[in-house]
Amino acid sequence: MLSQGPVPLIFEMGAPGRRAFSLPGGDVPEAVLPAGLRRETPPRLPEVSEGELVRHFTTLSNLNFGVDTGFYPLGSCTMKYNPKVFEVVARLPGLSGLHPYLPEELAQGALRIIHELERYLAEIAGLARVTMQPAAGAHGELVGVLLIRAYHESRGNPRQKILIPDSAHGTNPATAAMAGYEVVTLPSDARGGIDVGALEKAMDDTVAGLMLTNPNTLGLFDENIDVITGLVHGKGGLLYYDGANANAVMGYSRPGDMGFDVVHFNLHKTFATPHGGGGPGAGPVAVTAELAPYLPVPLVDFDGESYRLNYDLPRSIGRVRSFYGNFGVLVKAYAYIRSMGAAGLKQAAGDAVLNANYVMRHLQEYFDLPFDRACKHEFVLSGKRQKEKNGVRTLDMAKRLMDYGFHPPTVYFPLIVEEAMMIEPTETESKETLDRFIGACAAVANEARDEPEKVHGAPHTTPFGRMDETRAARQPDLRWR
Ligand SMILES: *Cc1c(COP(=O)(O)O)cnc(C)c1O
Repeated sequence: MLSQGPVPLIFEMGAPGRRAFSLPGGDVPEAVLPAGLRRETPPRLPEVSEGELVRHFTTLSNLNFGVDTGFYPLGSCTMKYNPKVFEVVARLPGLSGLHPYLPEELAQGALRIIHELERYLAEIAGLARVTMQPAAGAHGELVGVLLIRAYHESRGNPRQKILIPDSAHGTNPATAAMAGYEVVTLPSDARGGIDVGALEKAMDDTVAGLMLTNPNTLGLFDENIDVITGLVHGKGGLLYYDGANANAVMGYSRPGDMGFDVVHFNLHKTFATPHGGGGPGAGPVAVTAELAPYLPVPLVDFDGESYRLNYDLPRSIGRVRSFYGNFGVLVKAYAYIRSMGAAGLKQAAGDAVLNANYVMRHLQEYFDLPFDRACKHEFVLSGKRQKEKNGVRTLDMAKRLMDYGFHPPTVYFPLIVEEAMMIEPTETESKETLDRFIGACAAVANEARDEPEKVHGAPHTTPFGRMDETRAARQPDLRWR
């Protein structure tokens, strides 16, 4: 099948015999493979010149949109700009060239980085110990809930249920189910927090714990957090903090102080690793001293003289990943935290919150604002007005924003807001960028009212318009024939 877009596949380019390289002639006799090992027909490889090759991939790369090309307000994802110096640090040969089987005494520097990063993350979380093994946020969630299960099991009963508010990220219920728990959904109240009455009713000694994101996916800090953690602990349950939104609160408030027992961080969201497209991340999990005995092995301990790998945790849930986690990502987080310092991290959170409130207050004139409260690092608008009055959906407006040079916000999430648009500006954007974005959103809202057809047909400036996303997910066709 031929590509229908303006960019041909590399297989459709070139001509037989054309090459992008020339190897020097061999200076040893040619060896002939036994016939049984040889393929009957030569592989069908692209035959292109070096120039064609370079232009092809450069053209493709220019079609990508990333944080390095423009503003990327994808709510819940914290798509902030990550300074390039941290990539340089992670690639230092003394770090990137280490073999994971190196004996402890030859890897003291690397172990020190892991140990000190653990101390920093424990401090930011307000908790005792941290495992670096989980490779992503969702992986950290699974580890965290398995820790909760191990804790209850050690007291004779793993319990049956996990409570999760209806505003939660989809990974939370998926995690609880994978860890063998029944998921009980809690409604949100009119102010966007947990409905405390519903929690009180649902909370009993069959409940292993509550998974909560605070600020939640509406960008709202739960005003009843003390009451909530008190209710869950009162019935012997534990509290899991989804730390994907840590960028909003680091340095200001600590999950441990709020009463949480387990916290995961997404280093790739909050602590300087570029993400999207499935690149490596890290989801360290911090816990109270009470849960520390169950952590995955190894931990990195320091005895005042040297760093060593501690496998001696008899009640550990075991390993959850090979070696010590995604070490390069840990190095970037370590360098980021060291270079920002405590005051710098606090300022990053403060600026992220300021930017979000600035954009929210300018956009509430153009879209519905279902929860009219000061937000934290992100906020959720609704395109209900445009849908009802003009027949224009949030998806149409999100696509139209691409014509203005912006990555669309997260749409149709959280599920509790009709026609949701979730916007997270992050702290690394300038006022000029935020103003341009506000201007573009306002222009799209006006178009939805005055020229709905233009918005329905968007995007107009990309090689392809609307994709059949369901078919792409269910019947992916990734091969060229
Ligand atoms: C991103 C996110 C997750 C999942 O994290 P990954 O690193 O993508 O696995 C979980 N919860 C919330 C609120 C998130 O935003």
